[in-house]
Amino acid sequence: MSRPSQARLDLRALRHNVALARELAPTARLMAVVKANAYGHGAVTMARALEPLADALAVACSEEAVELRRAGIRCPILLLEGVFEAAELALAAEHDLWITIDNDTQLRWLEQTSLPGPLACWLKIDTGMHRLGVAPEQARDYHRRLLASGKLAGPPVLSTHFSCADELDKPQTRQQIELFETSCEGLSGLRSAANSPGVLAWPQAHYDWIRPGFMLWGNSPFTVPQPQADRLRPVMTLCSAVISVRDVAAGETVGYGATWQARRPSRVATVTIGYGDGYPRTAGNGTPVLVNGRRAPLAGRVSMDMITIDVTDLPPVAVGDPVILWGAGLPVGEVARASSTIGYELLTRMPMRTPRVIVAD
Ligand SMILES: *Cc1c(COP(=O)(O)O)cnc(C)c1O
Repeated sequence: MSRPSQARLDLRALRHNVALARELAPTARLMAVVKANAYGHGAVTMARALEPLADALAVACSEEAVELRRAGIRCPILLLEGVFEAAELALAAEHDLWITIDNDTQLRWLEQTSLPGPLACWLKIDTGMHRLGVAPEQARDYHRRLLASGKLAGPPVLSTHFSCADELDKPQTRQQIELFETSCEGLSGLRSAANSPGVLAWPQAHYDWIRPGFMLWGNSPFTVPQPQADRLRPVMTLCSAVISVRDVAAGETVGYGATWQARRPSRVATVTIGYGDGYPRTAGNGTPVLVNGRRAPLAGRVSMDMITIDVTDLPPVAVGDPVILWGAGLPVGEVARASSTIGYELLTRMPMRTPRVIVAD
């Protein structure tokens, strides 16, 4: 038998999650964000599945976009951070990529570069994230210069990005929406603001284009229950199997650093998955794992290729029994919280080593 650790991908769940985004924002166009290897799921596979469902895709850089074009993806692809050098504008025109303009340098590159044809462009406005984007009071001037450049296929899409949309009781999102609307007043072009939490919880921010990423993979971006997010279905289930089971006497320790000690005569199952397979080394003692579909606590440090689980309270466990690290039955967010991170990071860090296997399409 070959090593049983794998990331199983459920494309039916992906379609369900896209349909939920469509249902929540029925009049908006949908841009599926597939940056960072589609948050670890596999950019080409996910882009192929999403192309018929989405109006456009989005990535972080032209390398990611060109990979998708080479794989035959034809739909519009937005570069979320725009280009990093003037020469990339010709590449964008050649591959029919949509660009973002978020600062003066990018605008001057556009004004000064001759291009084989017009480009579609998004103008990003900084309404409070203070990472990328032009100042709200400069939006009008950028808009005018973009139209005057003669390089655009049409008016720019006016966009912004939320800093706290996943924290429902914070005032920032409301303030950002207000500032965004004031900045866009009277300017031609469609509008876009909503990331996943925006799609799920801020209907007033749906505008003309929604830009979900994380929610498409079926996990809640919130740390508290949220009625729409609770309807999502996980695309990735990270699985492995038990490869050894042993009794451990009270007082004995398990794993590197001897950080877990048996308080009673215990039974410990060893599973072949570790931080070399994308399971976080920061997962603490007690992090839930599903063994034969039942929860059991992680016991001892995560190794590169193995973890150990306290299965004392479970019905008998044997070599070969199935284990789920996250996904169906165990939200990645819960494992992330036990590992001092967020689900976004756990998914995105999934290494090449872990086989992606499509189980439902
Ligand atoms: C990554 C990204 C998104 C998607 O965010 P999610 O929270 O994953 O939905 C949307 N817009 C921009 C500009 C991004 O960089």
